[in-house]
Amino acid sequence: MFMAVSNFLSSTAEGVFPFYLDHAHVKGRLIRLGSVIEELLANHQYPDFVNQYVAELVALTAALSVDVKYDGIFTLQVSAHPDHEGPIRLITVDINTQGHVRAYAQLAPAFESTKDYHSLSLLDVFGQGFMVFTADLAHQTERYQAIVELTGKTLADCMHHFFRQSDQIATGLVVFSQPSRSDGQLMAGALILQRLPLEQTSTSEQKEQEEDDWITNLSLLGTLTKHELLDADLGSEQLLHRLFHERQLQLLEPKSLKAQCSCSKDRIEKVIQNFPLEDRMDMAVDGEIKVVCEFCTADYRFGVN
Ligand SMILES: [Zn+2]
Repeated sequence: MFMAVSNFLSSTAEGVFPFYLDHAHVKGRLIRLGSVIEELLANHQYPDFVNQYVAELVALTAALSVDVKYDGIFTLQVSAHPDHEGPIRLITVDINTQGHVRAYAQLAPAFESTKDYHSLSLLDVFGQGFMVFTADLAHQTERYQAIVELTGKTLADCMHHFFRQSDQIATGLVVFSQPSRSDGQLMAGALILQRLPLEQTSTSEQKEQEEDDWITNLSLLGTLTKHELLDADLGSEQLLHRLFHERQLQLLEPKSLKAQCSCSKDRIEKVIQNFPLEDRMDMAVDGEIKVVCEFCTADYRFGVN
């Protein structure tokens, strides 16, 4: 069975495309991003290999946050071990419920602009650092946080580990980034499948069937090439249909992401006003307190009083 969603923009390759397989026993999300990545990176001058990490982390954050039904901000951060002398200190990506995304990376003091870091593994870059997912929900005082130690060669390896630890749901995923062939613009994409827990009443035959189905889905996922995932000329509906047409593909409402920072002069001013006058005097240079947003590089200036 193939259900088309009326406002599914098949001509649009970009966005977040949730779907179900196998009569909704498997939840999937396809993420394909181009112009959002371009806008996010335009404010910064990171080296290519840092841009790729940022782009892939944006795709993974979108995959994690897209089906959370509460209002809030979802943050995925990868940080290096404090004693590790690698090229990147940390990368942070935020996505809110409206699909506004922002991201930044902090290069480490050990970073050398002439060195080629492309062949380094995740652990070479960050050492025994951490991946932290935080959900800051609007109407709750406590935040939800999941932390895993960095593990594996790539972000995808580490994400697998993250899902195993935090959700304990069987998960298959791929994440890729590469410059587009037409204009060299960096694109990122991810495809994630998660097996939803079986009902308690399932018979052993049903369980066996589910197991077989899951293995089939994972092998289909394994056939997806980097080129297909990041091919701007291939519609997302088309891509999913091509991969999963025999798996009762059910497309859900797609979501778009927008590069937009949530910083504001008012909010920063309130934070500054909370400091005692003496501290504000210390912060000031030539009578002015200067604050630069790490995410969007917006430059705010305030008087001491
Ligand atoms: Zn900002």
